[in-house]
Amino acid sequence: MNVILLGPPGAGKGTQASSVSKDLGIPHVSTGDMFRENLKKGTPLGLEAKKYMDAGALVPDQVVVDMVRDRIAKADCAGGFLLDGFPRTIVQAEKLDAMLASKQQKIDMVLNLACSPKTILARLTGRRVCRACGAIYHVRNMPPKKEGVCDACGGEVYQRNDDKEETIMNRLDVYNRQTADLIAYYQQRDLLKNVNADAPREQTEAEMLAALRA
Ligand code: ADP
Ligand code: ZN
Repeated sequence: MNVILLGPPGAGKGTQASSVSKDLGIPHVSTGDMFRENLKKGTPLGLEAKKYMDAGALVPDQVVVDMVRDRIAKADCAGGFLLDGFPRTIVQAEKLDAMLASKQQKIDMVLNLACSPKTILARLTGRRVCRACGAIYHVRNMPPKKEGVCDACGGEVYQRNDDKEETIMNRLDVYNRQTADLIAYYQQRDLLKNVNADAPREQTEAEMLAALRA
C-alpha cells in the first residue's frame, strides 16, 4: 500500500508515521529526515538543503523529487511505503503521480492530519528531536526519561533550528500558500481521508489504522 501523510508542520506526521509504518510493515519515507541525515553526514545534498530548511522555506521541487525517486526505487519500497513530508507542492504531487504511473503503481490513500493552529504552535515550540536516530519528543507531552538524552539510543535530544519561533511562522505560511492546495488535489482524486490530529496521539493513531485497514 502506497500512502501519503498530509498535514501542517506540527500535526504529528513524523510521530504517527513511525508507529504506523511499523504496524503496517512498510517503510517510513520522510523527506525532512532524509535531508537532516544528509546534513549530518555533510553531503552536498545536505548542505544545499540546509539553506532552505534553516529559513523554513521549501527545498526546490526538482531536488526533492529526484531524492524521492531514488528512495522509492529501493527494494524495501516494493511492497508499499508511507510518505511523510512529500509531496509539499502541486508540482511534486504531479511528478509523484507520473513516476508511479511509469511503474504501473499509484497512491492508494492520503491521510490528512487536520489540526488547529493552537495545537500546531504548542507542538512545534515544544518539539525536541534525537540528533542520532531522529526519535521525536515533546518537552511537556512526551519528554525523554532523562532530559536531553534519547530513550531509544542515548543520543543527544535537541531543538531543530527550524522549530524556533521565528522560523515556525514562515513554515506555517509556506504550508498555507503551497501545501494546503494538496488537500483539494487528492480530494478530487477521491483519495483523501481526514483524521483528527488534535486528539491525543493514541486516538489519532487508531483512527489512521482503522482507515488504512478498511
Ligand atoms: P515539518 O515538521 O515541517 O513537517 P520536515 O521535517 O518534514 O518538517 O521538513 C523540514 C524541512 O525540510 C522543510 O521545512 C523543508 O525545508 C525541507 N523539506 C522537507 N520535505 C520537503 C519537500 N517535500 N519539499 C521541499 N522541501 C522539503
Ligand atoms: Zn535516538
